[in-house]
Amino acid sequence: MGAARNERRLDRKAKKKRTSKIQKQIDANIVKNECGECQACCTLLGVPEIDKAPGTKCANLCDKGCSTYDIRPKSCRDFVCLWTMCMLPLGDRPDKSGVVVDLSHPDSEYGRQILVAREARDGALENIMGILQQLASEGHVILLIKQGEPRRLIGPEHLVKEAWEFIRKKLPTIR
Ligand code: SF4
Ligand code: SF4
Repeated sequence: MGAARNERRLDRKAKKKRTSKIQKQIDANIVKNECGECQACCTLLGVPEIDKAPGTKCANLCDKGCSTYDIRPKSCRDFVCLWTMCMLPLGDRPDKSGVVVDLSHPDSEYGRQILVAREARDGALENIMGILQQLASEGHVILLIKQGEPRRLIGPEHLVKEAWEFIRKKLPTIR
């Protein structure tokens, strides 16, 4: 009993250690970028709670952004855009770069946090591949979702293997 409790405690400690890197980086960025005219995520991503399919403009979008912001679905609330968190260059706002990068499932059972880079325009991933490679070399695992191509993971080799296992078991469909 004591050993099992100790194991759980160590597991929680390990998870905390593993998640802390990117969270610390995000938390350290006190200034956040404003979306401005960008509405990329509200078109590119699916929102199951309101039957919004990926790649379709959300019916709740208006000129000023989300018309139902205060009561937006959990998927939208959980969405963490890396550009607004100042972790991508200012000029790479998703509507300009053609790529939305977000932090997937920050509170999942999986200890790590996977970055997901989704291409909104054909070939756009190439626009920010330099910064994505840099993030990967800093120890982050990034899922690349390119139109019409198999998904690809980049990052440290041992983490990539582990991340595939997690994706296979827990995230058969990433919205
Ligand atoms: S993709 Fe990022 S910058 Fe663009 S609207 Fe969504 S949260 Fe804002
Ligand atoms: S509900 Fe609001 S935040 Fe969510 S996708 Fe639609 S417009 Fe965007």
